[in-house]
Amino acid sequence: MSKSELSGKVQTVLGVINPDELGITLMHEHLLLDITCYFYESEYASVRSFKDIPFKPELTSKSYELYVHHLDGGRMYDESETIQEVTAYKNSGGNSLVDTTSIGIGRDPLGLARISRATSLNIIMGSSYYVTNSHPENMDQKTESQITNEIIGDITIGVKDTNIRSGIIGEVGNFWPLTKNEIKVLLASGKAQKETGAPITIHSGLGDDAPMGILNHLIRGGAKPTNCILGHLDTAIQSTLHFIELAKTGCYLEFDIFGWENTGMFMDDVINMPNDGGRLEKIIFLIENGFEDQIVIAQDVCRKWHLSRNGGKGYDHILNNIVPRMEKIGISESQINKLLVKNPAKALAFE
Ligand SMILES: [Zn+2]
Repeated sequence: MSKSELSGKVQTVLGVINPDELGITLMHEHLLLDITCYFYESEYASVRSFKDIPFKPELTSKSYELYVHHLDGGRMYDESETIQEVTAYKNSGGNSLVDTTSIGIGRDPLGLARISRATSLNIIMGSSYYVTNSHPENMDQKTESQITNEIIGDITIGVKDTNIRSGIIGEVGNFWPLTKNEIKVLLASGKAQKETGAPITIHSGLGDDAPMGILNHLIRGGAKPTNCILGHLDTAIQSTLHFIELAKTGCYLEFDIFGWENTGMFMDDVINMPNDGGRLEKIIFLIENGFEDQIVIAQDVCRKWHLSRNGGKGYDHILNNIVPRMEKIGISESQINKLLVKNPAKALAFE
């Protein structure tokens, strides 16, 4: 697929569609995934005992240990389980989603195509690389232009010999401060956008300056802010001034961890982990400041305990619980339509 063939279209794992065919779209989810790159060995024997035990819902009360000292909870390998879980989203009115799984965390083109066929959901697949600890061993040796060409190949030809093409660059993974290799990947991702017109989606590290710092590297590589989606803003930015500064660039502002309440994340950290109410307050603040055309949302389902079957909120939380709440707190129907339909359609269209 050439740049001109892709221009104005959205590329799903089953081919190219028009943006108005997307309907309700979640912008940042994971269907099949291995997120064990965050695992590290605990100092303590009692915690080490967690490492290899199979996930079970009762473990969720140990959630901080689950995030970093346990493997199985971060392995979403079961396609039939995923199909059941994501069908609940479809049955609630969902039509499309972005699987932001990038290289290094189990991206699975054939699996995504099978799930798309089984559920009739439009699925947009990622490309490029996640955070440093998921990079391949030879990442230091890879040049920026090699990475650029890998991304362009995934978008225009397909991943390896699958003929299944990525429709978005990312999630491009970043800590804050950035590592040397993360900067290289950001520059390559920016360049690949310039060459293909594909949108970019970002996993931001934590810090008021992080999203803007990351965006500046993308721009340096050749990206346009208006084709970039800055993710995890729920936690990345605490200061309203930084929100406004970022929004003024014209980039998309993504609140993508709806439903992550009491999951243990940042339990031991200085980061203020908002609940859904806090997320909605931030969204209303941005709407009131004139940025309703740039906001997109998701749930970033990426652990076994996020699934409904394990007591999590599942893929249908936003449609079943958050949309009614939005209506009650005065977000208008047309604004909700922007967050779920219109803004994703604009954000996912190739330039
Ligand atoms: Zn993610």
